[in-house]
Amino acid sequence: MTTELTEARLLEVWETGSGQEPPARALLLGALADGPEPAVPVADRTLGDLNALLLDLRESCFGTALLCATDCPRCEERLDVTVTTHELRALRPTDTARDRQPTGTLHADGRQVAYRALTGGDLLAVDPAAPDARRTLLARCVVDTEPAAADGPGDEVLEAVAERLAALDPGADTAVPLTCPYCHHTWSAAFDLAGYLWTEVEAYARRLLHEVHLLARVYGWTEADVLGVSPARRQYYLEVAVG
Ligand SMILES: [Zn+2]
Repeated sequence: MTTELTEARLLEVWETGSGQEPPARALLLGALADGPEPAVPVADRTLGDLNALLLDLRESCFGTALLCATDCPRCEERLDVTVTTHELRALRPTDTARDRQPTGTLHADGRQVAYRALTGGDLLAVDPAAPDARRTLLARCVVDTEPAAADGPGDEVLEAVAERLAALDPGADTAVPLTCPYCHHTWSAAFDLAGYLWTEVEAYARRLLHEVHLLARVYGWTEADVLGVSPARRQYYLEVAVG
């Protein structure tokens, strides 16, 4: 975290992202963790880099333990699972020190193809409900083909790129390995890091606004007055004011 994270900034991000789609929210949260003058615009960071930023933000705002509930796909028992940010980082480490996109080259369809990893900006630009969404996303990862294809990269090229994206940007995948304590089934569960963090930011913002409301009503403070008081002092005022 390069800048001090304030409650007011968290509230701003929540307000801006409230009416937006998940990819836009993920970028807002990533930008919050990245600070005001990032080396690479947050939308141009790979999904692995973006996830690393989200893990930074999670740790500084809410700590390292993420509590999740899921159902075992075999015995259907309800499981309460605690995943830590350290585990998520260690699963598929990302080199966050890099200041440019990782790229690769491959041969497919008689061409030499240069490709890059997917970014948060790609997810923002492509409607996930569109019938050709996957194809459009993969085509955005193709930087160059030699010789060039008149109609853009074909399916053979796109599938070859798709196969290599996980190796190029391992941190893009946040699936968590789980073992059911009841039937011992093991599987990999998709984990929506940005969605999880957004839900927490939303709950935090709503609680904070409720505190502003209570203290403004009792003491006649403005929102800025309330947010200018440290959380510990605010808790004291709330206790004596509301009883
Ligand atoms: Zn089970």
